[in-house]
Order: sequence, then C-alpha cells, then structure tokens
Amino acid sequence: MEHDRHKTSPLWIQDDKGAHERMATLGIDFPVFEPGWVWLVGAGPGDPGLLTLHAVNAMQQADIVVYDALVDDRILKLLRPEAQRIYAGKRGGRPSAKQADISLYLVELAQQGLRVLRLKGGDPFVFGRGGEEGLTLVEHGVPFRVVPGITAGIAGAAYAGIPTTHRDCNSSVTFVTGHGASGEVPDNINWAALAQGAPVLVMYMAMKHLRRISGELMANGRTGDEPVAIISRATTADQHILITTLANAADDVEKANLEPPAVCIVGKVVDLRDRLNWLSPQDDVKTVRNVPFDRILDLLAPAGGKD
Ligand code: SAH
Repeated sequence: MEHDRHKTSPLWIQDDKGAHERMATLGIDFPVFEPGWVWLVGAGPGDPGLLTLHAVNAMQQADIVVYDALVDDRILKLLRPEAQRIYAGKRGGRPSAKQADISLYLVELAQQGLRVLRLKGGDPFVFGRGGEEGLTLVEHGVPFRVVPGITAGIAGAAYAGIPTTHRDCNSSVTFVTGHGASGEVPDNINWAALAQGAPVLVMYMAMKHLRRISGELMANGRTGDEPVAIISRATTADQHILITTLANAADDVEKANLEPPAVCIVGKVVDLRDRLNWLSPQDDVKTVRNVPFDRILDLLAPAGGKD
C-alpha cells in the first residue's frame, strides 16, 4: 500500500484531468475565514514557496491585510486583488506604528465585520509580537486563529546548508534577540548561562549590537574561533552568507556591508555547511526546473474567495 502511494506523481504535475477532483478526494479541508475574525499569519522568511497552505488560503479570503516590512512583495501579490492593504512596518526611515496602536487597530477592523489578516514575516509568535496582538484580541473578545510560519532563523540556516541541530554537535538550540523593546541589547539576558548552556545560538536582530554580543559570549567562556554564520536576506534572491568566527564576526560584518535583515548562527553546526551547502554547491551540475506557482494556487482556489 505504502509502496503504491509513493509511485503516484505530485498532484499538479500528473495530468490535466482534474487536480481539483483528486484534491477533493484527499479530504483535506481549509478553514473559511469568517467576517469579524483576525488571523495572525506567518508569511515565512521570503521565498514564497515557504508559505504554508493555510497562509495562502488566508490571503485568498481576507478583506484587509495589515502587513509588516519583512513580508516579501512577491507574497503580497498572492492577495485577492480586492483586498485592502495596510502597511504597518518601518521602512525608509519612517517610524513604525506603535505596537499598541496596531493591536487596537486590528480589534477595530474586526469589529467592523471584516476578515482581518495580520501578516508577519517568519512566524508570528517568534520575536514577532504576535503574542501581544493575540492578548489584545482576547481582551476585546475578538475571535482569532494563528497560522505559524517558517521562522527566519531556521530557514536561513537551512538555506545556508546548516542544520540547527545535529546529534554530533548539540541537543538543544536557543533563539535569542539582540534587540529589546528599547532598541538596546535586552538587559534580562543571562550571558553566562547563554554562553555556557546554549551550544547553538540562533540570533535575531543582532547585527547592530554584534560586537557587544560576541564580546559578552567570549567573556563568559565561548572561544573566539567558534564558527559563526550570518545570513542576510535569507531565502530571497539577495541572500548573502558570511562565514566567520566569534572573534571576527563584528569586524567582518562591517567589512562585508551586509544588508538587514540578517540572522546569526553560532556553534559547531556551522561547520556542516562545508558539506551540506545544497543551494550553491561547488560542483554546480544540477539545474533547477520550476513549476509555475499558479498551478499550485489553483488547487486551493475553490476554498478561498467570497461566496
Ligand atoms: N517573526 C520573524 C522574526 C521577526 S524579528 C521570524 O519568525 O522570522 C526580525 C528579525 O528576524 C530580523 O532582524 C532578522 O534577524 C530576522 N529575519 C527576518 N527575516 C529574515 C530574512 N529573510 N533573512 C534573515 N533574517 C531575517
């Protein structure tokens, strides 16, 4: 049975006699976006292929989308053309809207009876303030759904050929932010515990304070020659990867002039990139063939839209 199933080709490649019908027989249903609801949805790190099907389903039904700077433009093109778009991030030096204002705005829109899509880069609950927004929705009795997204730290590492865990290297992984609500390094970080207890660190928003952060880690027991990977604009066409060490990281980032956003991975797993760099291997013999995205979207179309 198992064997037979694996022989079947993917739904959208197989033929023309109704991918929809086959999809229908799978019994996979997607939720209807009801008016008055807010969906907090992760858009992933950039590459549209890393969106979840729930995210696409949400984009095909939303009346209004409130999105952040980190949501890739190509992803916004997947919204229904009628959907109203509200930008709530920081871009081009303009200050970002205050978090409390955004949360209350979501409440207001939901109370107007709209289907409100709050679209965030990566995962809404990983350094994404999705928790704050969710709490405000709860406080005001607004029904909501959370759609997790692929977080930039894990995806960025993977696109650089770095597994965030490997049995030979680490049995835990720690997410850290280098940036607190004040814009400075958060003052509640226990550097000694982090340096000694976190074999692999995945750092978000750490570029600005990298010198201070790497200094703290070394002062608390990490060695200067520990491998570090910095992945800028991960999973997009502008992805850049810098491999360095803890001692040289801050200088090398300055020299390389890396563009934000970027994630920083510290730990032995970084060395695995030498062999696992699947995206741009030395012997570049493979060619990538693409299938048009609309074929995939097509499968979801009947679930979305307005009645
Ligand atoms: N909720 C997001 C994180 C938001 S905090 C998530 O789960 O990914 C913003 C930080 O995320 C940035 O400063 C950067 O560290 C990281 N980030 C987001 N998108 C990124 C990308 N495409 N490439 C590298 N880092 C990214």
